[in-house]
Amino acid sequence: MMTHGTLRYGDATVPYQVNPDPKRTSRIAIHVEPDGTVVVEAPLGQSDDVLRKAVQRRARWIITHVNEAFDRYKHVSTKQYVSGEEVLYLGRRYMLRVEEQANGKPSVKLKGNKLIVATNNADANMVKPIVRAWYRTKARDYFARLIDEKSRLLPWIKKSPPFRQQEMKRQWGSCSPNGSILLNPHLIKAPRPCIEYVVLHELAHLKHHDHSPEFFRLIDNHLPRWRQSKGILDNMVEVLHME
Ligand SMILES: [Zn+2]
Repeated sequence: MMTHGTLRYGDATVPYQVNPDPKRTSRIAIHVEPDGTVVVEAPLGQSDDVLRKAVQRRARWIITHVNEAFDRYKHVSTKQYVSGEEVLYLGRRYMLRVEEQANGKPSVKLKGNKLIVATNNADANMVKPIVRAWYRTKARDYFARLIDEKSRLLPWIKKSPPFRQQEMKRQWGSCSPNGSILLNPHLIKAPRPCIEYVVLHELAHLKHHDHSPEFFRLIDNHLPRWRQSKGILDNMVEVLHME
């Protein structure tokens, strides 16, 4: 049973996620969440074809609601770094909780559905760098592991290439002609398949330095479902502008 799909309707391309629900018997329900995420609730074992058709039948309704959500999004101010705010990590939503502590070094930890920041100064200007440093540390380890993991599987790579993190406004990653890789630290907010796609994309550039058909064939061979992941990332570009 598929977990993600992409709806195409006119010029619009909208990714959606499929949540299997064992309690459902036959009906498929479609929701558009406030942030524009499209969720399809379906009985277990529903065929991909039935799912795709159900989504397609409601295409107009979905696109209208996604557009409304994005319009609202545009007016969302940048991050405030205060308790109650939503933060993303590996594709999941967490609620930020800022706890004031009398002394000691600031700390950040994930607990349940919360990202808890303990600091002796809860001012947003103090919390922001703490959260960003936490993301960077998490991202560095995660990216390093993933690059090693993928490099071992890719015959054109003899040794894991060096990489650096760099914030970019419209790009998740890049690969320089000398073979070093840049990854956007905000990528750690995306679901794992999306991170895998970006890492594989940059590693594939070590073999083909362009976006030729050979390049995409390579990606297809190693990550057949990459288009869904790219669709999700394309919508997440909005997230970068809220930082
Ligand atoms: Zn590229």
